[in-house]
Amino acid sequence: KLIADRYLKRELLGEGTYGIVFKAIDTKTRQMVAIKKIRRGEYMEGVNFTALREIKLLRELKDPNIIELIDAFPHKGSLHLVFEFMESDLEALIRDRNIVLSPADIKSYMQMTFKGLAYCHKKWVLHRDMKPNNLLIGADGQLKLADFGLARIFGSPDRKLTPKVFAHWYRAPELLFGSAQYGSGVDVWAVACIFAELLLRRPFLQGSGEIDQLGKIFAAFGTPRLQQWPDMVYLPAYSEYAFAPPQSLRSLFPMASDDALDLLSKMFKFDPKARISAEQALKHRYFSSVPTPTKPVFLPRPP
Ligand code: ADP
Repeated sequence: KLIADRYLKRELLGEGTYGIVFKAIDTKTRQMVAIKKIRRGEYMEGVNFTALREIKLLRELKDPNIIELIDAFPHKGSLHLVFEFMESDLEALIRDRNIVLSPADIKSYMQMTFKGLAYCHKKWVLHRDMKPNNLLIGADGQLKLADFGLARIFGSPDRKLTPKVFAHWYRAPELLFGSAQYGSGVDVWAVACIFAELLLRRPFLQGSGEIDQLGKIFAAFGTPRLQQWPDMVYLPAYSEYAFAPPQSLRSLFPMASDDALDLLSKMFKFDPKARISAEQALKHRYFSSVPTPTKPVFLPRPP
């Protein structure tokens, strides 16, 4: 039996933030796909039309470094989102102790991430929930950003019900201070955390909750001074933290090149207005200096 007259259901791939994901074959294109079934009740009441309209906009995001949303339809009361199938993700790669990531490999992953990010930001779409397991890796080595725009449509994922305790490890300080008018800077902060994780091979700022997350950020970069981030005092959840001195990036990332550290320092700015954009980051000399980024086909094979 085909779903929506088109998809042949295969095994369950896993359970994510918004519901279950299963593998399927698209009989129209003979392509392998991943179908995300949005749980009813939690994220939406039946299939709502606002969501469908917004989903339609996401289908127009087409870039080599963005997971393509192939199709979207209601089926038995649940919204089904059909994406191109991907072999692995960056989290699996980072965790695999048998895989060596060279500086050129890390640069290649960062460049592909920024390309996808710059494309979406240019179209005014934010991700808001970037983390290594949202950076999927295809059989050809290409990295593609998954779940773009979904956080906005279905709401913040880590409130109740989700067992994903690590969702806040990638959260920008303005989000942790309750900002409602955040912008593309939240995605750049998350990518900075992912960059750091590629260098360290472990999550960089592992807060145990949202409050502790700010503590971890301040322990690394020092408590923000007013002159670094003048607008912080206007944020809804702003409060003063006990003074902590900043550590040098060099001491936090002893193995990184000077260019990598310079880019990282521009991504980890407290003030989102001062943070580098994805487009500017692609022009940073980190990407033009040696070593050149590894070509995707030569990147380490995911397990
Ligand atoms: P999360 O909400 O934690 O990011 P997802 O809902 O994106 O998780 O995914 C749940 C599971 O489905 C994960 O194990 C992931 O590897 C898998 N998955 C998601 N999208 C794809 C895809 N496009 N191709 C292959 N597997 C996927």
